[in-house]
Amino acid sequence: MRLSRYFLPVLRETPADAQIASHRLMLRAGMIQQASAGIYSWMPLGLRVLKRLEQIVHEEQMAAGHIPLLMPTLQPASLWQESGRYDDYGQEMLRITDRQERRLVYGPTNEELITDIFRRHVNSYRDLPLTLYHIQWKFRDEIRPRFGIMRGREFLMKDGYNFDVDKDSALHAYNRHMVSYLNTYEKMGLKAIPMRASAGPIGGTHSHEFLVLAETGESEVYFDNDILELTESDHKVDFDNPQECAEVVKRWTTPYARTDETHDPVEFKSQISHSSRRQSRGIEVGQIFYFGTKYSEPMNAFVTNADGDRVPVHMGSHGIGVSRLVGAIIEANHDDRGIIWPEPVAPFLVGIINLAPKDKKTNDVCDDLSRRLSAFGKEPLYDDTHDRAGSKFATMDLIGIPWRLTVGPRGLIKGEIEMSHRRGGQTIICSPDEAINRLCRGNGRRE
Ligand code: ATP
Ligand code: MG
Repeated sequence: MRLSRYFLPVLRETPADAQIASHRLMLRAGMIQQASAGIYSWMPLGLRVLKRLEQIVHEEQMAAGHIPLLMPTLQPASLWQESGRYDDYGQEMLRITDRQERRLVYGPTNEELITDIFRRHVNSYRDLPLTLYHIQWKFRDEIRPRFGIMRGREFLMKDGYNFDVDKDSALHAYNRHMVSYLNTYEKMGLKAIPMRASAGPIGGTHSHEFLVLAETGESEVYFDNDILELTESDHKVDFDNPQECAEVVKRWTTPYARTDETHDPVEFKSQISHSSRRQSRGIEVGQIFYFGTKYSEPMNAFVTNADGDRVPVHMGSHGIGVSRLVGAIIEANHDDRGIIWPEPVAPFLVGIINLAPKDKKTNDVCDDLSRRLSAFGKEPLYDDTHDRAGSKFATMDLIGIPWRLTVGPRGLIKGEIEMSHRRGGQTIICSPDEAINRLCRGNGRRE
């Protein structure tokens, strides 16, 4: 992508009203633009990151055997009256009346709508287990939207719903979700810790939130330092094997890790040695719930079990804050020059800087690098503009592109370009061929 033809409205000044780094950087990097309080347009660069996150979420959900569909943003109020949540949900729910005086809500979550889909089509335990999910915009009329897309009113969420014939099977679905979520965050280059949580308005008995540690997080969290040593994605788990999933969950839920809602100071002190106790702040990037028959009973979602009895289906719901994750990743990955994207979520893996756009040789080498990187599925962002070199470097640093190739006539006399790494800061001098080899080695297309 040639920068001269792209739309990257970066800001040189720090926006005065943005309180936290991710919000400031997203505005400065031209990733988002506020439309009204808590409602944002996703500009081209921001959209590329959002799409990468969506892609990772889809891959990991499908690997766990979960099935994508797409439900609408507007839902009939009648379903929410059936479950009893139309009144309970309160002012966070945006209520709309159409020209026929029909009442609608802009979905803050989808338990009711998915239960309605389920009950119309599924009747027997033979069709279970089933987990359906979608990635769709939600609206919650937050009383104090803040920190940019981190606490928006309109936000993108992956929400999934499991349907199982009994509690055991539903608890396996719960565990399966925990494993798939751990994989998802790791694939994004993030450390997210599952912490025991209370279930809030979704209801239920089991719940964990996933938190990314950050000083600017809104949750107070307490945990055993040992949990930071755990990793998941190296292990290959058979998602159909309840035992294997339960073992992963046990490993991750044995060390103490709680949010302030479930924190117990006495247990905290008695379970963990003084040197391992940690108190910090965190950003909630996901939550999973098992709530049994809370929705299936009032909404008549029953199936016939193996004994021929009609039983209410056991359910859980599971959410990942896809748009909030963009902010959370930036909170965990930036410096005073800008964003430092983890490679799997970077909007572009490589930035090319042309130091002399009037020089034919320099242009030819830049074009060739662009073409070859694109052929490997790593389309670069190519700064072919006539801006000053210093300003080009500052923009690449600000928008956080992991690798930068700098090409100019002086180096090309010796057949050399400069290749530098945004995170490590190291720079090497090499030939264009070597840069391509290093960037494309061993890993074919990314898209
Ligand atoms: P919070 O406690 O932050 O208000 P929640 O517990 O109400 O969130 P859930 O119903 O668990 O939210 O939704 C699943 C995920 O959606 C959350 O873990 C979070 O990452 C994301 N999310 C929730 N509310 C917002 C919001 N207002 N803006 C952006 N993302 C949000
Ligand atoms: Mg939550």
